[in-house]
Amino acid sequence: MTTTMNLTLKTPSEAGLTWAVTRNENARTDADREAILADPGFGNHFTDHMVDICWSEKGGWHRPRVSPYGPIPLDPAAAVLHYAQEIFEGLKAYRHADGSIWSFRPYENAARMQRSARRMALPELPVSYFIDSLKQLIAVDGSWVPSAAETSLYLRPYMFAKEAFLGVRPAKKVAYYVIASPAAAYFPGGVEPVNIWLSTTYARAGKGGTGAAKTGGNYASSLLPQAEAYEKGCQQVAFLDPAGNLEELGGMNIVLVRRDGTLLTPESDSILEGITRDSILQLAADRGHVVERRPIALSEWRDGAASGEIVGAFACGTAAVVVPIGRLLAEDFEILHHGDEASELALSLREELTGIQYGRVEDRHGWMARLDA
Ligand SMILES: *Cc1c(COP(=O)(O)O)cnc(C)c1O
Repeated sequence: MTTTMNLTLKTPSEAGLTWAVTRNENARTDADREAILADPGFGNHFTDHMVDICWSEKGGWHRPRVSPYGPIPLDPAAAVLHYAQEIFEGLKAYRHADGSIWSFRPYENAARMQRSARRMALPELPVSYFIDSLKQLIAVDGSWVPSAAETSLYLRPYMFAKEAFLGVRPAKKVAYYVIASPAAAYFPGGVEPVNIWLSTTYARAGKGGTGAAKTGGNYASSLLPQAEAYEKGCQQVAFLDPAGNLEELGGMNIVLVRRDGTLLTPESDSILEGITRDSILQLAADRGHVVERRPIALSEWRDGAASGEIVGAFACGTAAVVVPIGRLLAEDFEILHHGDEASELALSLREELTGIQYGRVEDRHGWMARLDA
């Protein structure tokens, strides 16, 4: 008879946590992993381990673990299943030419997760624990970071209310997890402009709502309008605020390009502040572009496109990085952009940003953080 014992090792970390690390005895073989990494798609495959940290009102953050990837035991009354008290983050691990593994501005993700937590009445995970959790996962699953051009290991930290209680109040028991999923190049055949459907029937978020928090509910409410977008032949949906100002897409921010090279992007307390957008705008500012962050009426885009004042637009987010918008389709009008100038700018900013992320371009802002050391 053979028995497999899952050995658990206690591993102290720089952040002052003592991790209980249990290796997955059924981890994929090198050959199986390589087969997955050769064609990973997005969000289909997960690595051999996961990380979690518990939180309770009494005990604070405790019991940090690295365990074999697998189902989470959850009470049917867990508050997240009923009241959606949940937040998440998304960032990538990039393999550089020398084999080292890096992430891009993870401290920004950590800080944003704290802001999301405050809005959703969840506990704030200390920034050092957030960074530590990524490093712990990479320590056991680093071989899952692919090396082909523009591929990455997508890291998904998330937190949810696990207390079994149907009363409506912030949960007193919460779980934080990190899982990881290898991701293929987003545009294997070269970056293609997207068509966007402008939803006027549905809103993504309201004033004082949860639009600025990275929370599942915002995504749940975007699924129906997203389905409408597909029906109209569009890949993404754009939302407006009640005053008719431009907000963002379901999961990406929007930037407009003016003829004089000025970049315009909505400022609003009901959109999610993307780290990709912030970085792209910084790179553009470094090149001398003027950047305006302010409320932008849809009419400014529409009239500007008609007069030639607005020459293009692009969307940005971690998954796709930057993608030019070819067409905005609405119920009773459309905006077409085939401005080469704006696409070229979007693509060259994309090239510079991915160059920094993959270690080909100097990281002059100190954005990269090493995960495997
Ligand atoms: C995550 C997200 C973005 C993009 O943020 P990045 O930090 O650039 O990945 C934009 N909009 C929404 C709604 C998001 O959830």
